[in-house]
Amino acid sequence: MLASKLYSPTLREIPADAEIASHQYMLKAGMLRKNGSGLYSFLPLGRRVTLKVEQIVREEMDATGAQEIMMPIMQPAEIWHESGRWSAYGPEMFKLQDRHDNGYCLGPTHEELITTLLRNELRSYKQMPLILWQMQNKYRDEIRPRFGLMRSREFVMKDAYSFDVDEEGLHKTYQIMYDAYDRVFTRCGLNFKPVEADSGQIGGSHTHEFMALAAAGEAEVVSCSKCQYAADIEKAVPNTLDMAAEDAADVELIETPNCSTIEDLANFLQIPVEKTIKAVAFDVDGKTVLCMVRGDHEVNDVAVQNLVGGNTIEPATDEELKAHGLQPGYMSPMGADTPDNESFYVIVDPTAMNVPNGVTGANKHGYHYKNVNPKRDFQNVTVATIRLMTKDDVCPHCGAPIDIVRGIEVGQVFELGTKYSEALNATFLDQNGKAKPYVMGCYGIGVTRTIAAAIEQFHDDKGIMWPVAIAPYEVVVVPVSSKDEEQMKIAEGLYTQLKGMGVDVLFDDRNERAGVKFNDADLIGYPVRITVGKKSAADQTVEIKVRRTGHEEVAAIADSAARVQ
Ligand code: ATP
Ligand code: MG
Ligand code: MG
Ligand code: MG
Repeated sequence: MLASKLYSPTLREIPADAEIASHQYMLKAGMLRKNGSGLYSFLPLGRRVTLKVEQIVREEMDATGAQEIMMPIMQPAEIWHESGRWSAYGPEMFKLQDRHDNGYCLGPTHEELITTLLRNELRSYKQMPLILWQMQNKYRDEIRPRFGLMRSREFVMKDAYSFDVDEEGLHKTYQIMYDAYDRVFTRCGLNFKPVEADSGQIGGSHTHEFMALAAAGEAEVVSCSKCQYAADIEKAVPNTLDMAAEDAADVELIETPNCSTIEDLANFLQIPVEKTIKAVAFDVDGKTVLCMVRGDHEVNDVAVQNLVGGNTIEPATDEELKAHGLQPGYMSPMGADTPDNESFYVIVDPTAMNVPNGVTGANKHGYHYKNVNPKRDFQNVTVATIRLMTKDDVCPHCGAPIDIVRGIEVGQVFELGTKYSEALNATFLDQNGKAKPYVMGCYGIGVTRTIAAAIEQFHDDKGIMWPVAIAPYEVVVVPVSSKDEEQMKIAEGLYTQLKGMGVDVLFDDRNERAGVKFNDADLIGYPVRITVGKKSAADQTVEIKVRRTGHEEVAAIADSAARVQ
C-alpha cells in the first residue's frame, strides 16, 4: 500500500469526548469516526485491524471443529417472548416493528435464535456435540455508551453456541472453547487473565470472563498472589447471603423516599457509590432474601433471591410498570435457587417498599408483579450494605493476600445448561430414544473491544504500539526525503521486496517532511519502521526501528528485508 493513496485523515485536535487512549488514538490516526452515540465507521486502517482480529478468531474457532454460520441480526420478538427474555432483557435491547406491527429486536445476543433454529432439525444424539458460531454486529442500547469501541451500541462480536447431550459433554466443550479463547487472546498479543465470573443476564452457572488488564478497564479483577484464584470483583463478594444476614441484624426497616437513581439511594443511605453493592435483605419464613442494586443499574433494577411462599403477588404488565414510573424490569440474578431448585428472581423497587400495592418485576416470561405489599409479602424488610472486596481481604481459597486490578472484559464463556432448550422446547433423542433438552453453552468475543484493549495496553504519548499480529501494516518504509530519487528508489525496492515476501508493508511515498512521516508512523503505530536516508545510497544501509521498544539498528539493505520478516 502507498501512503499517498491511503485514506486515513489524521486529526490535530482530539475531540473532547474521547477520554481514553484507545479512543483518542483511533480517531487521531484516522482509523475510526463517530457517526452517532456509540456508532462508528471503521476507516481503512481500522478495518484492516478488525479483519486481522477476526481472522485470528476464525482460525481458532475452525481449529476446534466449530462451524461458521450466519444468523439474521434482526430477530422476531416471538422467540424472545417464548424464552421470557423480551422484557427480562430490559432497555438494553433495541426493539422495532415492521409495517404489520410485528415486533423485532436487533440482536444483542443469539441464544433464542440459534435454539429455535436447531430445535426441529438437530434431533439425534449422533449429531452432537455440535458447535456453531458467527461473526456479526451486535446491538445494545447501553446506558452509557462511551470510550469508543470499548462500550459502543453497535459492535462486532464472535458468538458461538454449543450443543451437548449431557453435562459431562458440556464441560468438555466448555474447556475446548476456553482453551481456544486463551489462544485467540495470546495471538492477539494481549496481556490477559481468565477469571471466574457472575453469570448475570445470560443465565447459566459456570462462567469465565477473559479480562485484558488495563487501567482504563471498567471491571475489577481480584487475583490471588499465591494460588490460581482470579475472579471478577462482583463474583468475588464473599458469601453474600451470610454477610447480608449479619449486616441486616443491626439495621432497621427503612423508608427510602424520592430515590429514583442509585445516587439518590446512596445519598439517602449515606453509602459511597463506588465501593459498595447496595442490598435490601428480606426475611421470609426465616430465610434471608437478598435484593441487590448493582453497578450502574437504576434503583428499580434489583433482584431478590430465594423468595419463598406465602405471598399473594401477581404479574403486572410493562404498561402498569410504566404507569408507576418504573422501567420494565432488568433482572440481575445472583445465582441462588429456591428450595424446589428452580431459579426464581423478583425485581423490586425499594422506593415502593412501604407502599401497599407496589409494583415489582419478575423474570418469568416477561411478567412483573403488582399489588405487592412488602410488609405483608416480605417480612422484616431491612437494608444492608455488602462490601466489595478490597486489597485488605484475603483469597477465599487459600487465605493469601490478594491483588485488585482493573480489566477490560474481552470475552466470556458460559455453561448455559438447559435454560434455553427447556424454555424453547428444543430436544433431541438420546441413545434410548428418549427426548431430552440440549445441554448448551455460549461463548462471546468482543472483536472490536479487543482492538481497544490492545491499544490501552500498548501505547505511549506518541501513539499506538500494535502487537504485530493485529497491526494494520507490519512495516512502514519511510524515505527521509521524497525529493531524493535515490532514496525513493531504494525505499520502493525494499517495499516491493517485502511485499513479495508476504509482509504487510506500507510505503510512505508522500511528499511530506520527514518529521511528519515519522510522527504519523509513531501515531499509527506500525511495529517496524525502515528509514531510508542520506547514508543509504552511500553505505547501502537503512535504519530499522522497533516501535514498541524504540530499539534502532543499522542494517545492510541486502539483509534488511530478511531481518524484519
Ligand atoms: P459488559 O460487562 O462489558 O457490559 P457483557 O458481559 O454485557 O459486557 P457479553 O454479553 O458477555 O458482554 O458479550 C460478549 C462480549 O462482547 C463481551 O465479553 C465484550 O467483549 C463484548 N461486548 C459486550 N458489550 C459490548 C459493547 N457495548 N461494546 C463493545 N463490546 C461489547
Ligand atoms: Mg453488558
Ligand atoms: Mg460483563
Ligand atoms: Mg459478559
